[in-house]
Amino acid sequence: MKRALITGITGQDGSYLTELLLGKGYEVHGIIRRSSTFNTGRIDHLYQDPHERDQRLVLHYGDLTDSSRLVTLIEKVRPDEVYHLAAQSHVRVSFDEPEYTGNTTGVGTARLLEAIRMVGVQTRYYQASSSEMFGATPPPQNEDTPFYPRSPYGAAKVYGYWMARNYREAHGMFAVNGILFNHESPRRGETFVTRKIARAAARIKAGLEEHVYLGNLDAVRDWGYAEEYVEGMWRMLQAPEPADYVLATGTATTVREFTAWCFERVGLDWERHVRFDETYLRPTEVDALIGDASKAQRDLGWKAQTMPEQLAHLMVDADLAAIAK
Ligand code: NDP
Ligand code: GDP
Repeated sequence: MKRALITGITGQDGSYLTELLLGKGYEVHGIIRRSSTFNTGRIDHLYQDPHERDQRLVLHYGDLTDSSRLVTLIEKVRPDEVYHLAAQSHVRVSFDEPEYTGNTTGVGTARLLEAIRMVGVQTRYYQASSSEMFGATPPPQNEDTPFYPRSPYGAAKVYGYWMARNYREAHGMFAVNGILFNHESPRRGETFVTRKIARAAARIKAGLEEHVYLGNLDAVRDWGYAEEYVEGMWRMLQAPEPADYVLATGTATTVREFTAWCFERVGLDWERHVRFDETYLRPTEVDALIGDASKAQRDLGWKAQTMPEQLAHLMVDADLAAIAK
């Protein structure tokens, strides 16, 4: 039985990846943060009573800022595969907390890679790199596109990218960067724009609120479905040689278009319910991200199936269903 360690298991991608790996027969270990409130809502449906035997999902407390704990956990779990997904992942918040974002999203990656090297365990390592690294470089973006990050988050991810590359080149580690374009789902955090809009459309339809406040409606993103992207992560670690891959749909959608699709789904005119709030603008914006995932299709057989309009519909439907429940 293969053993995987996932950082960020309580996040959107961590929850889908856990489902995928348990389905493939893996023993899955996840690192969770100590919190004063429950933070395992996305994986509760997968959790087994720790008193039962043959448990295949095991959770451990830990934090990206705590090197000694990362060493202890790598030593204890001795994973065949590590999926490093944990991060302060919100671009707008990274402008408010640049140092914390650098410490977790950036240096946290160095701590984890170094823990693996120090323990000396043979493991395959997945780094959750991001299209935000391309920032101001115009689309389409692929694995050879130069980085030009436009936020503390993007800068921290560039550092993480190069650390993974360096451990591959300097120490011969099987370390890969998945450069993932935005991917969303009903489990996406409520403050990312797609989920914020889908949830608002559902709540406005249900009469729970009247307006939603947004920032820049002109930004272009390449939005795919998170459940499909975790399959791509897994395929990267099964490849014969370590390499870096873009995962994307190759499509371009503005925030305005995504908003219109969500409101149309519930039969409402978005322009009557969306208001502008400058709080949601960023000091520097990433205008357009459109990925070219042809390398992943050629080498891994991976291709996005769900396109942005379908994604908008499934997210609104899920939020409507949650309200009805
Ligand atoms: P989420 O924000 O949903 O999840 C982030 C996870 O990291 C959570 O489990 C969170 O724990 C954990 N975490 C945050 N800080 C720490 C810390 N200091 N120590 C330990 N754990 C911590 O992100 P996604 O699932 O959407 O994304 C997964 C990864 O992929 C992230 O690294 C993200 O930056 C990257 N990425 C995401 C893209 C996307 O479109 N979703 C695009 C490209 C890259 P808690 O639940 O307690 O907050
Ligand atoms: P990002 O691509 O990782 O920054 O993902 P987000 O979902 O946070 O933002 C996507 C785009 O939506 C960015 O260009 C934002 O400027 C834009 N946007 C417009 N209004 C909002 C808002 O209210 N919240 C967020 N999060 N983004 C917004």
